[in-house]
Amino acid sequence: MIIVLKPDATKATADELLARIEALGLKPLYMPGAERVVLGAIGDERVIDQLHLESHPLVESVQRILAPYKLVSREIHPHDTIVDLGRAQIGGGHFTVIAGPCAVESRDQMQRTAGAVKLAGVLVLRGGAYKPRTSPYSFQGLGQEGLEILRDVAHELDMSCVTEVVEVGDVAVVEQYADAFQCGARNMQNFRLLRALGQSRKPVILKRGMAAKIEDLLLAAEYVLAEGNPNVILCERGIQTFETATRNTLDLNAVPLIKQKSHLPVMVDPSHGTGLRELVGPMAKAAAACGADGLLIEVHCDPEKALSDGRQSLDTKQFDVLMRELEPFARAAGKRLQ
Ligand code: PEP
Ligand code: MN
Repeated sequence: MIIVLKPDATKATADELLARIEALGLKPLYMPGAERVVLGAIGDERVIDQLHLESHPLVESVQRILAPYKLVSREIHPHDTIVDLGRAQIGGGHFTVIAGPCAVESRDQMQRTAGAVKLAGVLVLRGGAYKPRTSPYSFQGLGQEGLEILRDVAHELDMSCVTEVVEVGDVAVVEQYADAFQCGARNMQNFRLLRALGQSRKPVILKRGMAAKIEDLLLAAEYVLAEGNPNVILCERGIQTFETATRNTLDLNAVPLIKQKSHLPVMVDPSHGTGLRELVGPMAKAAAACGADGLLIEVHCDPEKALSDGRQSLDTKQFDVLMRELEPFARAAGKRLQ
């Protein structure tokens, strides 16, 4: 429920109403604007009716939030959220590229790859230490040693870093090393993990599940926000369809649609979205053109030898060319490449 107060309502009125909202077991929100104060009441709307807020002399209007996701919805938060990711900001007028290998394989591989992406202008390094693989026989990641390498290499180059967390028990350790959590496609509806990430204040890059609807993604984000962490970045990474020519079908419809429905930043991962390195550049440009706030791109210093996702990884030269080609697309969409 969104409660718009009249211009002459004082802070004391707002506090009194917020206390009444909280006393009913609902989540109260205070959102002062330039002209009006807006309050939010999140929870069971049948309970909210008991407050009869429409008849309060200092309440101008009471509107239901129609979307099933409340905190994530633009109805309650009309302006774009900007998430602070250490060296970079995600959202607003920025177009941010996060790049690095699928998996942290060794210190040498990370130094070579990170050095190149940094030179190409990247501020945020990626690399998986815990890899959720389809086959139990595939490389599963270096675990904590991978986190150490990722953090050390990012520090040496004055970069921020992001990495995937695959289970609740790893949230605390990943939090010590990374500037943001990646919650992967396979865990998008791991609700206990989402709640645990909601208890942190570090940004969460939440990837769309490969069989998840856009509404499912927004409801997954709601779990994180409802626990108190507002720093969520949504990521379209392709969905499974009947098409087998590409690894996934990159659903770029999701970008402008989510922008309409939610205030959260939206990034696109054209590496997993296509599975083929020759499609990564064209789809990265398409993502910039349709209004994405940035990209997550897999880059490897030697893709032929990569322990995971080599086929979709750009080499460092290809990545450097792409960074230069992206700039006019970001600019045309009204964003600054960073
Ligand atoms: C990844 O980023 O390497 C990854 C595993 O992504 P996703 O969860 O989108 O499959
Ligand atoms: Mn990968």
